[in-house]
Amino acid sequence: PQCKISDMPKPRYVRVNTLKMDVESAILELTKQYAVDKDDMVPGLLKLPPSTDLHKHPLVINGSIFMQGRASSMVAAALEPKPGWWVLDACSAPGNKTVHLAAIMKGKGKIIACELDKQRVKRLEATVRLAGATNVKVKHEDFLKLNPEEPCCSKIRAILLDPSCSGSGTAIDRLDHLLPSYAADDTGNSDRLMKLAAFQKKALEHAFSFPAAERIVYSTCSIHQIENEDVVKSVLPLAASHGFQLAPVHPQWPRRGLPVLDGSQHLLRTDLVEDGEGFFIALFVRKADKRPQEY
Ligand code: SAM
Repeated sequence: PQCKISDMPKPRYVRVNTLKMDVESAILELTKQYAVDKDDMVPGLLKLPPSTDLHKHPLVINGSIFMQGRASSMVAAALEPKPGWWVLDACSAPGNKTVHLAAIMKGKGKIIACELDKQRVKRLEATVRLAGATNVKVKHEDFLKLNPEEPCCSKIRAILLDPSCSGSGTAIDRLDHLLPSYAADDTGNSDRLMKLAAFQKKALEHAFSFPAAERIVYSTCSIHQIENEDVVKSVLPLAASHGFQLAPVHPQWPRRGLPVLDGSQHLLRTDLVEDGEGFFIALFVRKADKRPQEY
């Protein structure tokens, strides 16, 4: 019988929440029960054997470690916000990347976590509480309606934009059946994909209008070109008019964007089969001479 993608053994990853516990202590604790390896891409990310179930582990329950995939953990790491910065997580629930940002920033500075959906705001607040991320301010708002000139927004130096997407890179149980139709969707015929891509483009365009922004990460858990490279390609002229250009995302990672635009080698993809999930990450950096003087 054919081997199914959903049946392939995949390592489990946990991210140490360094706001609550240091990495070496977490390793010491976890190695009592499991074989633990440090990930070579993301600091604080640990790899455990495929069958590991940590849902009820005390370190998970008390927010010292988060069950977070490797590709998902690469996103906040790609933004590289500095402790003390003002940062915006534009579409943030359930908040896994928000609290990763807080850990990278050592709890210093400010993170505005914006979320449109009321129910999901509750999950976001619970994640923030569990992580002990005291520098996060949750905002129940439409990111597209945030005014970049408002006092808090005008200080924002880094934006993480992880908008709603098709989720085609994570729907593992459906993958075995749907791979051929994904290819069909990529012709651009799917109404749903086109609507998602239109929103993603609008959101990315809005991110460029934040006056102090110097780093913007755009990510999806989609395998579709229409939500990934095509969105990035369509905003390049606007990005350039604000002084932004594509910059390499985790350059040591081997799988890059599809070669359908200039700078595709800077984009990062993870592979559904090789990596067990299909993610996409793009990083825009504003040229130093195009940043506001006071920053
Ligand atoms: N970054 C999150 C994490 O890692 O935990 C996952 C974000 S999820 C892919 C996208 C989120 O964006 C959803 O919770 C959705 O409700 C929210 N969203 C969609 N449109 C939005 C908008 N216009 N403004 C703010 N949030 C929005």
